[in-house]
Amino acid sequence: MPVKDPYVFPQIEKKWQRIWEEQQTFKAGEESGKEKCYCLEMYPYPSGRIHMGHVRNFSIVDVISRFKVMQGLEVLHPIGWDAFGMPAENAAIEQGIHPREWTLGNIEHMKAQLKNMGFSYDWSREIATCLPGYYIWNQWIFLQLLERGLAYRKKSQVNWCPSCQTVLANEQVVNDGCWRCDTQVSMKHMEQWFLKITDYAEELLTGLEQLRNWPEHVLVMQRNWIGRSTGGQVTFPLADGRGGIEVFTTRVDTIYGATFMVLSPEHPLSDQLVEDPADRSKVKTWIEQSRAELKMKAEAGETAKEGIDTHKKAVNPFTGEEIPIWVANYVLMEYGTGAIMAVPAHDERDHEFACRYGLPIREVVVPESGEPYEDGIFHGYGALVDSGPFSGLMSAEAMDKMAEYAHEKGFGHKQVQYRLRDWGISRQRYWGTPIPVIYCETCDVVGVPYEDLPVTLPEEVDFSGEDGSPLGSNRDFVETQCPRCGGRARRETDTMDTFFDSSWYYFRYCSPDSDRLPFEPSQAKEWMPVDVYVGGVEHAILHLIYARFFCKLLRDLGLTDIDEPFPFYLSQGMVTKDGAKMSKSKGNVVDPDEMITKYGADATRLFMLFASPPEKEFAWDEKGIEGTSRFLHRIWKFYHESADILDIPDHKSDEGGGAERDAAAAYPLRVKLHQTIKKVTDDIGKRYHLNTAVSSIMELFNRIRRDAPELMVAEEGRALIREAFGTLLQLLSPFAPFITEELWEKSGHGSVIAKSTWPRFDPELAREEKVTVVVQVNGKVRAKFEADPDLPEDEIKRLALELDRIQGFVGGREPRKVICIPNKLVNIVV
Ligand SMILES: [Zn+2]
Ligand SMILES: [Zn+2]
Repeated sequence: MPVKDPYVFPQIEKKWQRIWEEQQTFKAGEESGKEKCYCLEMYPYPSGRIHMGHVRNFSIVDVISRFKVMQGLEVLHPIGWDAFGMPAENAAIEQGIHPREWTLGNIEHMKAQLKNMGFSYDWSREIATCLPGYYIWNQWIFLQLLERGLAYRKKSQVNWCPSCQTVLANEQVVNDGCWRCDTQVSMKHMEQWFLKITDYAEELLTGLEQLRNWPEHVLVMQRNWIGRSTGGQVTFPLADGRGGIEVFTTRVDTIYGATFMVLSPEHPLSDQLVEDPADRSKVKTWIEQSRAELKMKAEAGETAKEGIDTHKKAVNPFTGEEIPIWVANYVLMEYGTGAIMAVPAHDERDHEFACRYGLPIREVVVPESGEPYEDGIFHGYGALVDSGPFSGLMSAEAMDKMAEYAHEKGFGHKQVQYRLRDWGISRQRYWGTPIPVIYCETCDVVGVPYEDLPVTLPEEVDFSGEDGSPLGSNRDFVETQCPRCGGRARRETDTMDTFFDSSWYYFRYCSPDSDRLPFEPSQAKEWMPVDVYVGGVEHAILHLIYARFFCKLLRDLGLTDIDEPFPFYLSQGMVTKDGAKMSKSKGNVVDPDEMITKYGADATRLFMLFASPPEKEFAWDEKGIEGTSRFLHRIWKFYHESADILDIPDHKSDEGGGAERDAAAAYPLRVKLHQTIKKVTDDIGKRYHLNTAVSSIMELFNRIRRDAPELMVAEEGRALIREAFGTLLQLLSPFAPFITEELWEKSGHGSVIAKSTWPRFDPELAREEKVTVVVQVNGKVRAKFEADPDLPEDEIKRLALELDRIQGFVGGREPRKVICIPNKLVNIVV
């Protein structure tokens, strides 16, 4: 039978976009007293077009968000724009378009694209960081930090990207290249503004304990980035009595084996101690080498380690012995103090260096067991020998005692050290938030008074970025009056790192219109923390560590009482095609607009969600989207072929039909229906396995079609089909919102499916059949038993251990280990 009413998705999708907008279906905060849920994707950079990575990220959050709405939660699902940044400025240089115009134009275009995708945003909360209404609060926060000494200015060696013509934070240097353009990073000495993130190092580390729902690899990356180590700080006095050299060591127990010291070329003393002109110029070359070369040399093989003897000596404060001071290229200023005590008997690199230059090697720790070790270098902990009064102690005890001793004698102490460095936020670019400070000859650095905020970005500047910051080219901007003494002064011309903007934007969504504070504390209390945060793993260090830091700052400013902004973070996998990441440079980009035109937004979303679990890589394949498109066409057709049965009689409410339902309980389809509701509910809400949720929905549909002819003969059967089909639409609606709205409406429902109540399942009916669990002892299959599906691990382990056969093998002993694969296997190791 031909379908009279074909599935014309462009019309349907446009129609529902309009209705959701008119009805403000996804406006948050309309009802109070309900449990809240804040669902968020990392806000996009307005590059001009939505790419498939966005579509995937946003579709994942959209499903969860729509699901929560239907479950009756009060959901906040906002969107905005990370709108400052370099590409806008490059467009200005290359195409002569003002960055503002370029950015706002892109936002308009992308906004339309997002609407086409059917994302359930509360558009009334849209933000764009490049607007003064947003960046005024960056400036406000900065001034607060300035008052508290958490923002400070210092001259330092900075990472410089010669191509972007700007400073990069340590976090923005990836494999010695610029995170944005891959250009090799060089070093430069500049005055910069820093935020004291190191004050929060310990809390950023311990806070990770609370984040049990984060992917383990992200936690590991953050932990390593913070890089806490416990050790001792020891000062080795110079033999001539003029000062000393501080070192940090995690192995103070080896200090009796320290036979020389090594300074980094960048260490301030290097310049002072090296007197020979030829040597000085060598040190200078090392310093001028890019960090990349230095690192390469430091980390590469034997030939790379070079050193210069300063012919000066330091005194090992433990032994009183004078030891030579060297400058070498294998010690980096960025780690520790930029100086080390070299213990060649117990450190590979020191050993190599000592061998090359004929320096003494003295063993002071030996393995406890007396086991032989390779290569003449023992790295482990053990017993101390030739270590004066500490000889005979074990490493751990010795470290404590020696740190204590150093503390008593006044040349050292125990110390915790972090790899994390303060965050340099100054950027020599135009398209960012102006740093709100003024330099006065009399008063020095003065913060712009709060009542003068925002410091607005001037329109007219020279964008080339040559000769320093573009803002410096606008004299009206630069020249100003000192707010304190009224004298002549000049404004700061650097702008803020855009990661400043993205460190707190999720708070702004809670009250995007506040003109009193960055956000209203009462609203933040209502919505924060973000319950579901989804974004790419490329932000695992940069953005997530800064955002966690800002949350703690804002807490300490009294604006919020939460410690962690994102208790649940899901990092979605990459989108690939033909085996490579989808990217312009690879030429394998699929344009979402084309897919929408060809297959519709529903099919595009559904395919992206169906083809792989959110956290895994997703390989684009046009055949796949054809498949999901066919599935949607089949549903459309099925409805139109059976509309007389599927339509609700007399516009009864979707809850009704009690008696008929009871009668239909006997049908197998009813069992399948409840099993599917349970599966989809748990897959979205508990496991975030959106792909398996989609396959269950597809199975249910196939079952409805298969059983329909038989069921349609009796009214109770027809009622069941009607119920099952309505439920199918509801389960599918978070994934394919347009077609489900349309069929929901056509079948006689008076209000939008997006706000309908998520179907409930009867636990009795939803119970899956038993599963067979195999029990192994020491890897050999010894028994099998039947169990209810999805039992907790402890319960399965208990059942396995109670089996008589297994008791025979285990024999009352406590097993060494019990490994359990739910629903499948228990392996007992005895
Ligand atoms: Zn760059
Ligand atoms: Zn002044």
